[in-house]
Amino acid sequence: MNFESFGLHPSVAAGVAAEGYVTPTPIQLKAIPMVLQGVDLMGLAQTGTGKTAAFALPILHRLMQGPRGRLRALIVAPTRELAEQIHQAIESLGRATRLRSVTLYGGVGLNPQVQKLKRGVEIAVACPGRLLDLIGQGHVDLSRLEVLVLDEADQMFDMGFLPDIRRIVKCTPRERQTMLFSATMPAEIRHLAQEVLRAPQTVQAGDSVPAETVSHAVYPVAPHLKTALLLELLQHTDTDSVLVFTRTKHRAKRLGEQLAKSGYRAASLQGNLSQGRRQAAMGGFRDGTYQILVATDIAARGIDVSQISHVINYDVPSTPEAYIHRIGRTGRAARRGDAFTFATEEDRDMLRAIDRVLGTPVERRTLAGFNYRAQAPARDQEFARPPRQAGSYAGAERARGGGGPGTYARRGADKARATGRKRFQSASRPAARPQTGPA
Ligand code: AMP
Repeated sequence: MNFESFGLHPSVAAGVAAEGYVTPTPIQLKAIPMVLQGVDLMGLAQTGTGKTAAFALPILHRLMQGPRGRLRALIVAPTRELAEQIHQAIESLGRATRLRSVTLYGGVGLNPQVQKLKRGVEIAVACPGRLLDLIGQGHVDLSRLEVLVLDEADQMFDMGFLPDIRRIVKCTPRERQTMLFSATMPAEIRHLAQEVLRAPQTVQAGDSVPAETVSHAVYPVAPHLKTALLLELLQHTDTDSVLVFTRTKHRAKRLGEQLAKSGYRAASLQGNLSQGRRQAAMGGFRDGTYQILVATDIAARGIDVSQISHVINYDVPSTPEAYIHRIGRTGRAARRGDAFTFATEEDRDMLRAIDRVLGTPVERRTLAGFNYRAQAPARDQEFARPPRQAGSYAGAERARGGGGPGTYARRGADKARATGRKRFQSASRPAARPQTGPA
């Protein structure tokens, strides 16, 4: 099966060819024909499955017919980064269509967005808050919207956007095509789907579990040794691009600085950065200027850097779903990836929950030669504090029937051997320094 079989408008097909897509991904195969028919869609898919093109291509195809200069398609996304990414995908895929897309999100000036809207656009990719502001000020009119996409709905729920989403939906016509994408399906998202979708078709990619192309390992470690372990691991691991997750903005910033000081091309991405610095960090990570990006969950949401070879959970995520989202950043587009999780004593329950989500216990590893008995240097006291446990998690785990015994299988190691990736070889330290990220 190839893209020709969808019968996309030649200008849209030209975009597919320009992007170098040859074979549709599973979600594209299932979703594109349905969306082209105009039905509502519920997509159970995480980033990395090709879901953006699954909705963008049929939207571009549809908009080739009908009026220009009027807002006809709206994609709502939780974060600015994701909105930018979707917008860029639409721009690349739709280059030959002359359709116009605008991003609408906060943290940047209102005026450029208003000017673009005034010049006329057919597509908007928006975050909820700024979109509502623009609607309130009369700059955005959704009354003739034809297609509405709610992307990463579970994340929008986590971020408290559901009331905003409902307000936005109320501004759109009842006669519209609606698509809702979510990596997980908590009850709140099911309710939202019932409200906004009409007789939806459901497509699922990845079964809400991480891609098979990712192998997982847990490194038990004392809290104060995490940074030392990370440095040691990086030194002995063959990595391309590494995305490191921390629990807080402060930890992301600090760890980014520590890595840069140690000679790595590292930057951090967290909510306290200005939009310009966020884009510099993202852009630098994408083009390889930075080999390591340290980020919080929210800042990293939807990051699409196809060559991410390693996701390292410096702090365990607060829910098993967050684990899936984090490691969804690697092993994309059928490349292999590794997900390493640093775990302290206090993280035991969360590890069990992750085992359950993965359907198999994660391999537990120790790094040969690493001094696990070292004392915490005084200046590292902040990092020595054990991570806070998310209160919500214990309940979630109980709801799942509790964790099993924490045995750790060898699956990850077997997989790793199968990939042929060179691990823990002699030091392959990244070259250049010094490079202070925009953090
Ligand atoms: P997404 O899940 O939409 O974030 O897409 C993940 C990555 O896969 C992006 O870098 C896309 O450019 C890429 N991609 C999407 N569809 C295809 C395809 N059919 N063939 C190859 N790469 C694709």
